[in-house]
Amino acid sequence: MIDRTSMTYLFSDAGRTALTHFVDRSTLFAFDLDGTLAPIVTDPARIIISQDIRERLIRLNLLAPVAIITGRARTDAQKHLGFNPRYLVGNHGAEGLPGREKQEEEFCRRCREWQDQLKRLMPHASECGIFIENKGATLSLHYRNASDPDAASRMLVQTISQLKPPLRRIPGKYVENIVPYGAPHKGEALIQLMLQTGCSRALFVGDDATDEDVFSLTNDRILGVRVGCEGPSLADCCLSDQQEILDVLDEIIRLTSQSKDSV
Ligand SMILES: [Mg+2]
Repeated sequence: MIDRTSMTYLFSDAGRTALTHFVDRSTLFAFDLDGTLAPIVTDPARIIISQDIRERLIRLNLLAPVAIITGRARTDAQKHLGFNPRYLVGNHGAEGLPGREKQEEEFCRRCREWQDQLKRLMPHASECGIFIENKGATLSLHYRNASDPDAASRMLVQTISQLKPPLRRIPGKYVENIVPYGAPHKGEALIQLMLQTGCSRALFVGDDATDEDVFSLTNDRILGVRVGCEGPSLADCCLSDQQEILDVLDEIIRLTSQSKDSV
C-alpha cells in the first residue's frame, strides 16, 4: 500500500507493487525535463538527455501516449529532446495545450509588458548576475550566476511584487518564475491531456516546485513520482536520484508491453 502521508521509494516492495498495479493499457506517461529526464547543469543551455534515456522514451512513445511537460519553452525543449513525444507542453503548462492558442497569445502579451516593467525597475539586473528570460507565455528570472544569490533572490521577490497586473510567482532552483494568472499549470495540463487521449490514468515524474502542481492533485488515477526523496513533497512515490529514471522507463516499458500482450 502507498503511504499518502509521505513518499514511498518507488523501488521498495510497496513502491514496485503500487507501480505494477497502476500501469495498464490506459496509462499516459508524462515527464518533466530538467532534473528528471536530464541532470541539472549550471548552464541550462547545456542540458543533455543520455542516449539510453532517449532510446527508452522513443520505445515507450510507440507503446503508449508520452507527454513532456516542462518549464522550458517548447522550441527550446524540442532541441534537447531529440524525438517527438505525442505531446510537448511548455511554460509550466501554459504553452502547447490543444485548443488554448488564443489564451496563449494573451499570456505572451502580458509577459512582454512585465519584461518592460522589469527593465525599468531593475536597470542593472545583468550587472548583478540576473538574467531575464522571456519564454513567451511565462518569464524566468535566473540568478544562479549572481555574486550574492540570497541578495539577488530578495531583490527579485521585492521587484516582482510591484509588477502589474498581479501574477503567480513560482520559486525554483536559483530562478523565479512569473506566470500569468489563469495560465494552466502542470496539473491542469496533465488532466487536459488525460481527457484528450482518453487515458484514465497518468504517471507523472518530476523534481521541482512546479511539479507539485501535479503532485498536489488528489486524484487516485494520477501516480506522482518525485526525483529525490528528501524535502517536503506531496508526491506518492520518489526516486533516490535522477539516474534512476532509466530504471523507471525500463520498468514501465516492461509493464506496458505485458499489458498489451494480455489484450
Ligand atoms: Mg525539473
